[in-house]
Amino acid sequence: MSKRAIIADILKAGEYGKQVLVKGWVRTKRDSKNVVFIALNDGSVIHNLQIVVNPANFDENVLKQASTGACLAVSGTLVQSPAAGQPVELQAETIEVYGTADPETFPLQKKGHTLEFLRDIAHLRPRTNTFGAVFRVRHALAYAVHKFFNDKGFFYIHTPIVTASDAEGAGEMFRVTNLDPINPPLNEEGKVDYTQDFFGRETNLTVSGQLEGELFALALSNIYTFGPTFRAENSNTARHLAEFWMIEPEMAFYELEDNMELAQEFIQYCVKYALDNCKDDLEFLNKMYDKELLGRLNFVVDNNFERVSYTDAVEILKASGQKFEFKVDWGTDLQSEHERYLVEKHFTKPVILFNYPKDIKSFYMKQNDDGKTVRAMDVLFPGIGEIIGGSQREENYDKLLNRINELGMQPETLWWYLESRKFGTAPHAGFGLGFERLVLFVTGMANIRDVIPFPRTPKNAEF
Ligand code: ATP
Ligand code: MN
Repeated sequence: MSKRAIIADILKAGEYGKQVLVKGWVRTKRDSKNVVFIALNDGSVIHNLQIVVNPANFDENVLKQASTGACLAVSGTLVQSPAAGQPVELQAETIEVYGTADPETFPLQKKGHTLEFLRDIAHLRPRTNTFGAVFRVRHALAYAVHKFFNDKGFFYIHTPIVTASDAEGAGEMFRVTNLDPINPPLNEEGKVDYTQDFFGRETNLTVSGQLEGELFALALSNIYTFGPTFRAENSNTARHLAEFWMIEPEMAFYELEDNMELAQEFIQYCVKYALDNCKDDLEFLNKMYDKELLGRLNFVVDNNFERVSYTDAVEILKASGQKFEFKVDWGTDLQSEHERYLVEKHFTKPVILFNYPKDIKSFYMKQNDDGKTVRAMDVLFPGIGEIIGGSQREENYDKLLNRINELGMQPETLWWYLESRKFGTAPHAGFGLGFERLVLFVTGMANIRDVIPFPRTPKNAEF
């Protein structure tokens, strides 16, 4: 018997009488004179397999080494468990210690650490129940994303990570260069000469794959991207990362209403997928962190999102009688306090706001006939705020060029994007979903740093 059995499969099958070999990490060990209980976890499932050891059959030293955090291979016989909550346990016959974990120094020796403490040991936090659960859910959601789009006939396009454009025009980018930072080549004006840089021009890490995604939508009709995205915005909030993963579908022949419909269907699909496939992990998170989690997830799956124009939302906020820190007026960007009021107090359900003032949105959004608003939409979620930002795109060449000029952007750097409106342009729309915000919502965690394996935030990239 040399093939390792997976603990998730053992607990699911619940069969006893079988010989198995399991491998995993010790979560707890309880010693008594005649019996030692070891709770072994291999990460396949939140539950541990109970190993029952008769100390008389083992070297004392091996049992001492099998302390919390140690990695073991154990073989033996599965027997029916007398303990509640587990179908079977393993009667140990052999124990091999792969790696010890000195109880004096192992940081996870005791339970009950705060999430803040665990962030400082990001290299070890995957060994906890909480992070095991969060990252199994994250995996399931990533799979659901691909399944949803694949089943709908969307094509997955890998847009570049190094780009020369700033899709959002916000200038919050990380530069990519291999020039010597101490002594860069200078041009005649005394400025850094990027023509001598690796790509012969200024380049940065992408803030969005949308512009490239549009080019493919205008050829393959329905596409999506799912990749890392980088923003050098100094927002130290529980909702922002400097490196995050974004899903950006882009659809030819979709208008704003189709876009809203897809956004709702997509989120509901992913949440439902997690409810159906991550039951144990979500129940754990519900119990430990957020008693309303499962209720909230089911509510989102079962109810339509409210659709409200920006203009109507501003009226609602003004008439609310609420004291907001930031004043609301038509034309201002809504703050998260306003978004949360709409979602959590006024509508008590997810909200899709649409038709925003053009001056607070990006250059590529389709202009409405009123001359003031664009066909933008934001999907707002309870506890999260904005989870999706999207729009119908401006497909008219002249209008798009005008807007680029109005905003003082350089049309030369976007010539290839503009050509998509010159040759075979078509109405199209798309949106961006921040993957970690979805994982935050589904796991009920409060801080975005706890739903990505190794968070990159201002002053933090150690692990
Ligand atoms: P916010 O106002 O919350 O900063 P944004 O308007 O800058 O968001 P978009 O540019 O529309 O966001 O990006 C699309 C989606 O990407 C957002 O709805 C959000 O889910 C996600 N997102 C944006 N910035 C971040 C970030 N720094 N960290 C994690 N997710 C982000
Ligand atoms: Mn932002």
